[in-house]
Amino acid sequence: MGAADADNLATVTDRFGRRLRDLRVSVTDRCNFRCRYCMPREVFGPDFAFLPRREILHFGEIRQLVQVIRRFGLQKVRLTGGEPLLRKEMPRLVRMLREVEGIELAMTTNGALLDRMAAPLAEAGLDRVTVSLDSLDPEVFARMNDTKVPVDRVLAGIDAAVAAGLAPVKINAVVRRGLNDDGIVALARRFHGTGITLRFIEFMDVGTANGWRMDEVVPGREIVRRIDAALPLEPLPPRYPGEVATRYRYRDGGGEVGVITSVTEPFCAGCTRARLSSEGSLYTCLFAVDGIDLKTPLRDGASDDELAALIEGVWSRRDDRYSEIRSEETRGRPKVEMSYIGG
Ligand code: SAM
Repeated sequence: MGAADADNLATVTDRFGRRLRDLRVSVTDRCNFRCRYCMPREVFGPDFAFLPRREILHFGEIRQLVQVIRRFGLQKVRLTGGEPLLRKEMPRLVRMLREVEGIELAMTTNGALLDRMAAPLAEAGLDRVTVSLDSLDPEVFARMNDTKVPVDRVLAGIDAAVAAGLAPVKINAVVRRGLNDDGIVALARRFHGTGITLRFIEFMDVGTANGWRMDEVVPGREIVRRIDAALPLEPLPPRYPGEVATRYRYRDGGGEVGVITSVTEPFCAGCTRARLSSEGSLYTCLFAVDGIDLKTPLRDGASDDELAALIEGVWSRRDDRYSEIRSEETRGRPKVEMSYIGG
């Protein structure tokens, strides 16, 4: 292991000197939405083979892996999926992860079940929540997310999260040209002055199922220009190196808004994120092909030290920077789906 950290944890750096700071934990590969850009129904239909229950990590196994990764200076765990709130007893998992000292605990959800889950999650110790919401227009919302859940239910979930103190609540909106880009300013207006932070995400070529095309990507710069024309903005400096969102402040004091430009202005150089799939494989890039199986050694009784050695080996060999080298050549590469690896 590398040098000791300020809080006496070991550090591990990859081939580009990046540390392991964030972990996304996918708690299920299933989802109750069929967002066209993520889990299109033609692919994820009734015959799709989701992971069988026994293959999915138990809560105790998740906690053990988080505890081991914490040794390397892990600071933040984000529970995701699939749709994390489809997994039963999520407050119990949150309570168990709270036992791991020194980590911030967040969740990304589509919000469909958040109105009733926000309070129990907050009580269990969840710090923050990010809700995905691509449009306020009921028809655009239904088309883009291919769901019968009304947009009002997601908005009620957001209100419940605010009331429960899961602050600051963030909203993620994926933008696709010709589908929901005419609603960018409406979303900005809706959350301006509310204390809720809106982040627009460029449509990414994750997985191989979503029919991604560059001409559907609305560059972050254009998104910012459009908002600025309606609600004047000024740039904010990053709060820490490697911050994913480029942030702006409304000049009238109405809070902030951000863009996540993984396609047009990639940020691999500052990427400190690993992903744990629901079946216990560790991935070092959202666009990865292979992960390393941690479940088998875990279930075979590997010690924490043995697991730590495995993880350290993977991280220290890490050299991915997919978004920086995205090109015609990377286009046909096999990639795992985001619903599997954890968004
Ligand atoms: N089901 C949860 C949700 O909807 O937030 C968590 C998982 S979802 C995969 C996590 C995030 O990934 C969501 O904000 C979603 O919009 C985003 N996402 C999925 N596919 C994407 C794509 N192709 N490009 C950009 N963002 C995407």
